[in-house]
Amino acid sequence: MRVLVSGGGIAGNSVALQLVRAGADVTVVERARQQRDGGQAVGLRGSSPRIAERMGLMPGIDRHRLHVRGMVDVDGRGREILRTSFHDGTGPLTDIEITRGDLNQVLLEAISASGGVTDYRYGDHVVSLEQDDTGVEVAFDSGSSGRFDLVIAADGVRSAVRRMAFGPEEQFVRYLGGYMSFFTMPTPESWEPGWMMAHAVPNASIALRPDSDPAACNVMITLRAAADPALRGDVAAQQRFIRRMLAGAGWLAPAALETMSTAADFVFDELVRLDPPSLSKGRVVLLGDSGFCGSPMTGRGTAMAIVGAYVLAGELAAAPGDLGAALSRYEATMIPFLQRAKRIPGGGIKSKVPATQFGLGLAHLRLKAFASPPVRQVLRRLSGDQVEELPVYR
Ligand SMILES: Cc1cc2nc3c(=O)[nH]c(=O)nc-3n(C[C@H](O)[C@H](O)[C@H](O)COP(=O)(O)OP(=O)(O)OC[C@H]3O[C@@H](n4cnc5c(N)ncnc54)[C@H](O)[C@@H]3O)c2cc1C
Repeated sequence: MRVLVSGGGIAGNSVALQLVRAGADVTVVERARQQRDGGQAVGLRGSSPRIAERMGLMPGIDRHRLHVRGMVDVDGRGREILRTSFHDGTGPLTDIEITRGDLNQVLLEAISASGGVTDYRYGDHVVSLEQDDTGVEVAFDSGSSGRFDLVIAADGVRSAVRRMAFGPEEQFVRYLGGYMSFFTMPTPESWEPGWMMAHAVPNASIALRPDSDPAACNVMITLRAAADPALRGDVAAQQRFIRRMLAGAGWLAPAALETMSTAADFVFDELVRLDPPSLSKGRVVLLGDSGFCGSPMTGRGTAMAIVGAYVLAGELAAAPGDLGAALSRYEATMIPFLQRAKRIPGGGIKSKVPATQFGLGLAHLRLKAFASPPVRQVLRRLSGDQVEELPVYR
C-alpha cells in the first residue's frame, strides 16, 4: 500500500511509524523546513500511555519526561493564592508530560529504527489532489507529483488536505469563545522551577510552564472574546490584541509580553471544535487535530492523535486490500472515544477564564474543592479521562 501522510506532527509520525512496521510504502510531507524541537508540553491522558507502551515508545518518553510538580495560582504581585499538585488528569496536569518536540523526536527515532519511511519531505506540501477508484493523484508545491492508495490528512486543525477533500472548514468548525497563544521565553528569576504558575485577570489568563530546557519556559495565554476575523493571519494585530487583553495583569505578564514580539515560536489561534461529517472521504482520511480537534482546552489532542493513529494503522493492516472496510472500522472505533475525549473538563471558556473579579474568586474556590480526592474521583468519571478499551492489533 502506498500511503501519503500530510503533516509530520504527533498524529502523522505516529501513524507513519506503525504503517512502516506493517510494511506499507510511506511518504510523509511536512510543511516546516525542518523538525521543530521543544515547544509546549503535552500530557498523555486516558488510553494514550497504554498505546504508547504498545508502540514501544515508553523508554524514549521516559527519557524526556518533564517532572512538573503542580500548579500555583498567583495574584498580580506574584503572591500565592492556591497551590495544587494532582496529576491524575482532572486538572491541567497529567502524570506524563513531555514537550511536543521531544515526543516527535521519540517518534522519528522509532521510525528510523524501524527502517524509515520511503520519503520524508520537509518544506513541501500538497497543492492538489484528485481521487478515482484506484488511487489519488497528488501534486506538491515543489512541482513533483505522485500516486497513492491512501492520503492521511494529519496536517493540524487548519488542515489543507481536509479542505481539498471535504470543502471549506466553516461547515464543521465551531468557535468556542476565545483564543489561545503560546510561545517560549527565557526563564524569569522569580518563576518557581518545576511548577506551572498562572495569573488571571477578567477575560484573560497567562501561565508559565516548564520546558525541557531549564533556561526557557513556555508561555500559555488564554483569552475570552468574541471572534474577530481581522485577527486571522495578522501577527501584529494578534499581539496588539493580547497586550490589550492583558493590560491589567501584573506578576510576570509584562515580562512575558516584552519577549512576545521576538519569540520565534509565537502561535495564536481561535479555540475551535471540529465535527466533520465523517472521518474519511474516499481515499482521504482525517487523523489528529485535522479530524478530531476539541481545542487545547480538552488537554487531550495528543491522546486523541496517538490513539487515532494506532486504530487507523491497526485497521489498515488488519484488512489488506479492503480500504473501505478498514476506514469504516476506524470511524466506528473512534467516534465513541472522540465523543468523550472532545469534552472540555470543568466546562468551557466561561469557567476557565471568568469575566469578572468575583468569577475569578469563585474559580479559585472551585479549584480548592477539586483538590479533594473524593471530588476528583467523581470528576474523573465525569470528565471522560478514562482508559478506554481499544482493540489489540497484531
Ligand atoms: C500549548 C499546547 C498544549 C497542549 N496540551 C495538550 C495536552 O496537555 N494534552 C494533549 O493531549 N494535547 C495537548 N495539546 C494539543 C496537541 O499538541 C495536539 O492536539 C496534538 O499534538 C495533535 O497534533 P497533530 O499532529 O494532529 O497536529 P499538529 O501538532 O498541529 O501537527 C500538524 C503538523 O502538520 C504540519 N502542517 C501544517 N500544514 C501543513 C500542510 N499544508 N502540509 C504539510 N504539513 C503541514 C505542521 O507543521 C505540523 O507539523 C496542546 C497543544 C498546545 C498548543
